[in-house]
Amino acid sequence: MTEKTNLKTATTGISGSDDAIRPFLAAVTPEQAADFIAGIGESAYRAKQLYDWVARKWVTDPERMSNLPAPLREKIRAHFLCAALAVERDDVSADGSRKLLLSLFDGETVECALIPAEDGRMTFCLSTQVGCPVGCAFCASGSAGFVRNLHAGEIIEEYLLCCRLIGRAPDNVVIMGVGEPLLNYNNLVAALEAICTPGGIGLAARRVTISTSGWTPGIRNLAEHGRQWNLAVSLHAPDDKVRALLIPGKYRRDIKDIIAACKLHRQATGRLLTFEYVMLAGINDFPEQAVRLAKLAAEADAKVNLIPYNKANGAFERPSKEAVKKFENNLKAARIPVTVRVEKGFDSSAACGQLRSSAETRKRRTP
Ligand code: SF4
Repeated sequence: MTEKTNLKTATTGISGSDDAIRPFLAAVTPEQAADFIAGIGESAYRAKQLYDWVARKWVTDPERMSNLPAPLREKIRAHFLCAALAVERDDVSADGSRKLLLSLFDGETVECALIPAEDGRMTFCLSTQVGCPVGCAFCASGSAGFVRNLHAGEIIEEYLLCCRLIGRAPDNVVIMGVGEPLLNYNNLVAALEAICTPGGIGLAARRVTISTSGWTPGIRNLAEHGRQWNLAVSLHAPDDKVRALLIPGKYRRDIKDIIAACKLHRQATGRLLTFEYVMLAGINDFPEQAVRLAKLAAEADAKVNLIPYNKANGAFERPSKEAVKKFENNLKAARIPVTVRVEKGFDSSAACGQLRSSAETRKRRTP
């Protein structure tokens, strides 16, 4: 099957064993809206109205499409999977960031977050999988295991639902929620293409950052695809031995391979590259590791984002403030652009996957 066919399949939300699923309304394109409207014998202008509701007003529940007659709304509901995500839980932290637990059509749950900055900018953090197959040693999502990929329509619906919730589009989107996005490549790309459609949902590609644990086949595919999405790679260690402790499974790739793929992406897209680095006391917070990390960042032309560990499951310790500062200064001394992630939503449920894991635990405890 060609890449193009894969993408087309992913856009409709129908693939393989999921053939029984109706197409997601959130993923409807102008062409699909036109085909559907023509197919039921309605006037052509209804297709534009339908697409406008979804892409420009973020509405995926036909009941709210007030300029469409009731019989048409009923036909939309019968043909499409409408309003496919529902808010199960909405945790708001003192700094205004929100973490949502969303239920999917099959009863699974996934998280996303809305993160405001002090200057008023808003970032949405979206998930791409239910659970995660990568299994990073410090991550609640990884320890909960992998359930399934999100459909393109579900990823788009996450975005639309967040827009509806706050009545505005975000300034930035980070694909940094639960899951390894590049292991759900086709659905991810189909969703982001829809979200970044000029004249449609219309987010600028440069406002999107895809975060990966370093899945190099996916990074190379993104480079070939060529869209100007930013890339964030979770390096977490400057050598393969320590990295293997943190990302123990079969999806880990060698640092050499990661650097090569990142360079390719940078050349092809010209977009920003960030190395994410979760800092764990006594594991990867030594000054000599900062020096090695600086060399890798210089080679790949990357900036570094340090993330002091947010203790989720007790397996690791958070480094002291002094250790973080020293590490940061070592990078700065090598002229590497470096940021230390400011905690957001620390008081609600901070690490990715925690909200879902706590909900799953509650479910398991409930007879
Ligand atoms: S940190 Fe990311 S890639 Fe690693 S297990 Fe968690 S969700 Fe998956």
